[in-house]
Amino acid sequence: MSYRAPLSEYQFLFDHVVNYSEIAAQDCFEYATNDVVAAVLNEAGHLSAGKIAPLNRNGDLTPAYLENGVVRTSPGFADGFKAIAEGGWIGMSAQPEFGGMGLPMTVTTAVNEMMAGACLSLQLAPLMSQGQIEALEHHASDELKALYLPKLISGEWTGTMNLTEPQAGSDVGALSSKAEPNGDGSFSVTGQKIYISWGDHDVAENVCHLVLARLPDGAAGTKGISLFLVPKYLPDDAGNPSETNTLKVVSLEHKMGLHGSPTAVMQFDGAKGWLVGPEGGGMRAMFTMMNNARLGVGGQGIGAAEGALQKAMVYAGERKQGRRPIENGTGTIIDHADVRRMLAVMKADVFAARAIALMCAAAIDMQSATGSTGWGARAAFLTPIAKAFGTETGMRVSEMGVQVHGGMGFIEETGAAQFYRDVRVTAIYEGTNGIQAMDLVARKLMDGGDAAFALLDEVEQFTEASREACPALAEPLWDATENLRQTTEWMLAQDALNARFAGAVPYLKAFARVLGGYVHLKAAMAEQGKGSRTKLATVYIARLLSEHVSLLSEARVGDSDLYALSADELAAV
Ligand SMILES: Cc1cc2nc3c(=O)[nH]c(=O)nc-3n(C[C@H](O)[C@H](O)[C@H](O)COP(=O)(O)OP(=O)(O)OC[C@H]3O[C@@H](n4cnc5c(N)ncnc54)[C@H](O)[C@@H]3O)c2cc1C
Repeated sequence: MSYRAPLSEYQFLFDHVVNYSEIAAQDCFEYATNDVVAAVLNEAGHLSAGKIAPLNRNGDLTPAYLENGVVRTSPGFADGFKAIAEGGWIGMSAQPEFGGMGLPMTVTTAVNEMMAGACLSLQLAPLMSQGQIEALEHHASDELKALYLPKLISGEWTGTMNLTEPQAGSDVGALSSKAEPNGDGSFSVTGQKIYISWGDHDVAENVCHLVLARLPDGAAGTKGISLFLVPKYLPDDAGNPSETNTLKVVSLEHKMGLHGSPTAVMQFDGAKGWLVGPEGGGMRAMFTMMNNARLGVGGQGIGAAEGALQKAMVYAGERKQGRRPIENGTGTIIDHADVRRMLAVMKADVFAARAIALMCAAAIDMQSATGSTGWGARAAFLTPIAKAFGTETGMRVSEMGVQVHGGMGFIEETGAAQFYRDVRVTAIYEGTNGIQAMDLVARKLMDGGDAAFALLDEVEQFTEASREACPALAEPLWDATENLRQTTEWMLAQDALNARFAGAVPYLKAFARVLGGYVHLKAAMAEQGKGSRTKLATVYIARLLSEHVSLLSEARVGDSDLYALSADELAAV
């Protein structure tokens, strides 16, 4: 069985969990009515299931390769990309004046997840373009916008992001790429970038690289970094690709998964480029792209989880083993308690992660519609959670998907292992999940915890209001929220950031667990505590929310136990 787009899940979430009507009521989204959005999602679902999902295995079995300096992509990928471009899906949330649809990020988040669930390695190409489009919209000159945005939005050209260098991974400030002014408004960019997703390909006629580099007088560290737009082919006066720029693909990486996505080592040798944003403002401009991409990467994790869940469900409904443990069962392994446990927690986690990603997207939409700092702070706080929890869910669910298949999970032809291999990198790129968690406990708590406490207040108020209808769900959630509140206060009281950092990952996971409980409770309340969503919420509260106890306990340990062990003691065998 192939991929099925989770349309009814999205419809439910839009209607009952993220209050999409409030977004549609904003002037700037007046055309994105509930009906229009339902039609858009339906169309994206058709494309994902019918055209994109059949390419997933091609990407895995026939990876992109380098031939005489040119990257050839997996069979069918060029057609798949063309279909995504022609459908207008790349520029869904881009500004209409440049050819975009101006749809809310909430809708784009849903569509991106579906396409990622269908074929993660192909979907990474439009995702990179979307991030670049947003960065140019916010930071590029009018000339650059006019030339590049229509081409990126239409998919005639694609975008990449070039941060990473061998010595500069998480520590972007350590980069050594340089840019020299040419005296005519352009710059010459020189340096090597590694791991560049879709760094080159044959699915579109030009590749536009956003490259971080340092100007001659650029200070050390992140403050001295500027951002440059460096196309593979320099546009002529009519804006068509002409002269080849002085940049090349040195090699493609051999990877654990995501084989259909060409991951390139790029060499820039005085390549011509143009400044995006002010000199020294590169990190700020790149963060626009990275924040967009972080939510998108969270969606990749959720998409992979959905694909893995669907595959596991089918297998569990067909495979017969052991005696029937229940009356009126199906006679297949889905009757066994442990298999049912795995499937139920997989489904419960996919729902939670998807709803959290949509909460983040909805906050971004409300912030851009209203300009409210409250919505902005909420979006900023939720972004690392959506990224890390979405990708953790992808890893956890796809790992369980392999387990549900037993030995067949380890055999490649089922495709269960591909989800597991492909999704693994999502916890690493766009800032590792460890870096996301550090961002949460440091920068995102710099407001004294206002954004965090506003979310916790909201959860507690809803929990109070649900106590009568759903006491078995509301009471444990209220306790968990109070525990999280106390741990947030503990975090804020730690002046030594390293004490926070030692507990950052469990803290982020616990925050996600509580938000997951909140969205499950909302789902249960939407059916007055009676029905299948309430049953799924019950699984979540009993089996997954309960993890918050150990997570929050670990979050508050501090760092002394870790440093009490020396590096030599850790290495001892
Ligand atoms: C398939 C793939 C595609 C990619 N695509 C792109 C792309 O398109 N563009 C691009 O620019 N990059 C890309 N990357 C690079 C990716 O973003 C980096 O790999 C990632 O940011 C981590 O950097 P690193 O690999 O150097 O690991 P390191 O930074 O060396 O990290 C190693 C470990 O140390 C931890 N760590 C590092 N610093 C700290 C710290 N200060 N505190 C606590 N822990 C820390 C990390 O969390 C990690 O666990 C891609 C990578 C892969 C594998």
